[in-house]
Amino acid sequence: MISIKAIPAFQDNYIWCITRDNKHAFVVDPGDAEAVTQHLVKHQMSLAGILITHHHADHTGGITELLNTHGLDIPVYGPLSRHIPQITQPVSEGELFIKNINSTAEVLSIPGHTLDHIAYLIEGHLFCGDTLFSGGCGRIFEGTPEQMTDSLSKITKLSPETMVYCAHEYTQSNMEFAVHVDPENKELAEYFNWVKQQRNQNQITLPSTIKQELKINPFLRCDNPLIQQTICREYPLNKLENKTQYFAQLRKWKDNF
Ligand SMILES: [Zn+2]
Repeated sequence: MISIKAIPAFQDNYIWCITRDNKHAFVVDPGDAEAVTQHLVKHQMSLAGILITHHHADHTGGITELLNTHGLDIPVYGPLSRHIPQITQPVSEGELFIKNINSTAEVLSIPGHTLDHIAYLIEGHLFCGDTLFSGGCGRIFEGTPEQMTDSLSKITKLSPETMVYCAHEYTQSNMEFAVHVDPENKELAEYFNWVKQQRNQNQITLPSTIKQELKINPFLRCDNPLIQQTICREYPLNKLENKTQYFAQLRKWKDNF
């Protein structure tokens, strides 16, 4: 079985560290090389590889320094993207065998936040970068709302038990928005209480699961009539045509919340 630990970086990023033997580690989206190196030294592990979800600097900024420190031959997996020249193993949607953790990952193409965004599903653990957050989703910087909703549906069609490893600790602020949009949702209110307790003790709120997100994440619940009514009341609008339009309006609302 693989084990996964969060390496906190910057203000609210998590760099996920994956290992099977507690000796060789893969890291996902190492924006900060120093945080990774400290973690590896502390746990006496060597860096076996790097997985990248998309090109933003807080996910890729540490690659070069990590290669210089730990070995220039360390494989760097990621999307084929002109923004990430350090990628040595370009991947696209489909199966990917990762030698050093002896595991097969499923790569999902999930454009929306950026056009090059991918996710890795490894033995029931989903590393989804900045596409899905607990209680929220990424901003749409490069894609369209259609692309983002397609990408989120691709994720939510995975097994409900899939563990979701988001790249940021945004859960509490996402909850503040979510309870505003979905005030009748009891499971959301309960989750918000738990999230507040965790954050008051400076504890992580991740990983989440697909099952949990489908219950509490308003961006995955745009077909809910109560959420649709709240969106229409906010703007005000009579009615929108489809789920994607509600999603786009909700994303716009959150961007300005
Ligand atoms: Zn990003």
